[in-house]
Amino acid sequence: MKAIVKSKAEPGLWLEDVPEPEIGINDVKIRVLRTGICGTDVHIYNWDAWSQSTISIPTILGHEIVGEIIEVGSNVNDFYEGDIVSVEGHLVCGRCRNCLAGRRYKCANTLGFGVNTDGGFAEFMVVPYTNIWKHEKGIDLDVAAIFDPFGNAVHTALAFEVFGEDVLITGAGPIGIMASAVAKKAGARHIVITDINPKRLGLAEKMGSVTKAINTKELSIKETQKELGMVEGFDVGFEMSGSPVALRDMVANMAHGGNIAFLGIPSDPFEIDWKPVIFNMLDIKGIYGRQMYETWYQMSVLIETGLDISPVITHRFSYRDFEEGFEAMKTGDSGKVILDWEH
Ligand code: NAD
Ligand code: ZN
Repeated sequence: MKAIVKSKAEPGLWLEDVPEPEIGINDVKIRVLRTGICGTDVHIYNWDAWSQSTISIPTILGHEIVGEIIEVGSNVNDFYEGDIVSVEGHLVCGRCRNCLAGRRYKCANTLGFGVNTDGGFAEFMVVPYTNIWKHEKGIDLDVAAIFDPFGNAVHTALAFEVFGEDVLITGAGPIGIMASAVAKKAGARHIVITDINPKRLGLAEKMGSVTKAINTKELSIKETQKELGMVEGFDVGFEMSGSPVALRDMVANMAHGGNIAFLGIPSDPFEIDWKPVIFNMLDIKGIYGRQMYETWYQMSVLIETGLDISPVITHRFSYRDFEEGFEAMKTGDSGKVILDWEH
């Protein structure tokens, strides 16, 4: 089968012929239909320091996947050939304290498809049946391909109550933009999203769920609060940029007793002024992955009841043209980029 492989310890990815994976008794085999490219894939493409210390050669990339089941293992019930399923990108151990307590998303031994083990940038993929989510018939396949990052957005946006609250989102990447749509649907009052890239802010506006999309190089969050008639600061913050400046800005603009859900991954350790966290009694919660499978249930219900995240998809390519997809990602201006494995 064809697969996009990190097969050399240098920048780049290579479309190669590799053997089809073998199915085990607890697995399903899927024909991959669409995949999304994640920022993580770009790090691996570029072969940065993190990738060099994390990725074994060779590894098939890809963890944003939708496919059709073509075979089920002998131990698998409830999934059938023809089912359209998305893949949960985190593999959990099932044996640690959190897994045994039913908190699988907090597994102490989490591994990632396409990072720690072969992923789904391939014509076929084998996945444990505990790692898939079945879609209703008629789901938009491009949307189903990005359930993994959509899940990051939903997990973060619903980490704290947002009904009637003012929400600050730092980072208008695809995840920040999808989170704005979820917060809106969950009943937030003002939703302010920040970025330093005008193209990303334009995409956030196109999604139609933000009160204001601001470039913090031109307008401060404080001034924006004033314009909106806010007096006490934001009730809920979603940090979705990984930028130290953005987290500091957020902490300085929260209401007393405010809640911060922290998803963005900073590249290096950094300092913040902890005094407002203490004196303003802020809660900061780290968010990783998606709740298995409560977040997935919420995603399906959000889509079923009319949430449209498709404006965040800006590029679509055949897998054969994956280099163009990565080029689009590298500009930093794109939304989600989809690779089509059928055409
Ligand atoms: P992205 O890199 O596409 O978007 C981040 C955005 O933040 C960019 O548009 C960038 O211009 C903006 N930004 C940079 N500095 C800023 C600043 N000072 N103020 C405001 N915005 C600023 O990323 P994404 O795919 O949307 O993901 C969002 C973040 O979440 C990334 O940091 C990613 O690594 C992280 N992530 C975390 C998890 C998890 O499970 N915790 C999963 C996926 C992604
Ligand atoms: Zn575990």
